[in-house]
Amino acid sequence: MKAAVLPHTGPPDVFQISDVPVPECGPGDVLVEVMASGVSSRDIAERNGTYRRDVVLPLIIGLEIAGVVRATGDQVTSLAIGDHIATKAFSSCGTCRYCRTGRETTCLTRQPVRGGYGQFTALPEDACVKIPKSIPFEAACSLGPAAGVAMNAVRDTARVVMGETVLVSGASSGVGLFSVQLAALAGARVIALSRDPTKVDFLRDLGAHEIVLIGKDGKFAQQVLAHTDGEGVDVVIDNVGSAVFWECFQSLALHGRYGVVGEVVGKRIQVNLARIFFKRAQLLGVGSVSRVQLADVAALCAEGKLHARIDSVLPLEQVAQAHRRVEMGLASGRVILSHNSELDLGKA
Ligand SMILES: [Zn+2]
Repeated sequence: MKAAVLPHTGPPDVFQISDVPVPECGPGDVLVEVMASGVSSRDIAERNGTYRRDVVLPLIIGLEIAGVVRATGDQVTSLAIGDHIATKAFSSCGTCRYCRTGRETTCLTRQPVRGGYGQFTALPEDACVKIPKSIPFEAACSLGPAAGVAMNAVRDTARVVMGETVLVSGASSGVGLFSVQLAALAGARVIALSRDPTKVDFLRDLGAHEIVLIGKDGKFAQQVLAHTDGEGVDVVIDNVGSAVFWECFQSLALHGRYGVVGEVVGKRIQVNLARIFFKRAQLLGVGSVSRVQLADVAALCAEGKLHARIDSVLPLEQVAQAHRRVEMGLASGRVILSHNSELDLGKA
């Protein structure tokens, strides 16, 4: 089979398009023919060497996979040959104390999903969720690691309800654009935060009620307060982290919930703990996506209530262009690698 192999870490052109054996399908695995693979930030970090956890090179990376089940191991019960699937970011064991209490994303022996940059990949059954065949593969591939994480943040961790006001940082990012849509679907008033004035129409089209642009000085809390009669927002869904934390925290209302989804730059911040209890604030860590969250966003997508945003679809041979586009922040929506030449609609 054809694959883009990562031989060692390096710049975007480090990948080698190679002919490699089709992976073996173990008793608990499904063999998936990959139809589309989203280029995620974890792919970029694994390629350039900043993400090293469980990375043993050479490696076929790619965790945002949509494809068709072509074979199943003897122990597989939930999937059959011909099913369309999308992947979670990690597979879980299903038996540890976290898995048995609805907290599979913190599974003690979770394994990263990879292999989307090859024509076939063998994955544990738990990593794959059956999706409706009406969803195009290019839309389905990022449902788990992008839309599903937003579902985890908005519905299951920050528990947004009708009538609340929600501030979404990094609103045009992979998780951010789904956070905006899901908070609006939940009946909340959504304030989308962006640095880029050219994203205003894009964010309004997603369902954001207000768009706040971060000032050159990094400030925006006064604008958010002005949109909320000085009270602040009930919920922050923060996809950016330390770079916006204090302004987001200043934007939070009394008794507000603060969902921490992403940390883009990895800087430390200092917190005066009195600020937390004076505000009665709740700081909530959001991690990854469960099977149920993935299935639920797939259903919303099939019903036409939730929309993936696709920047471009490129053939696997153009993996370097795809990585460059994502790493330079040029994409509006997902950059997709396709293994099906009929779908190669991409712009480089
Ligand atoms: Zn487990």
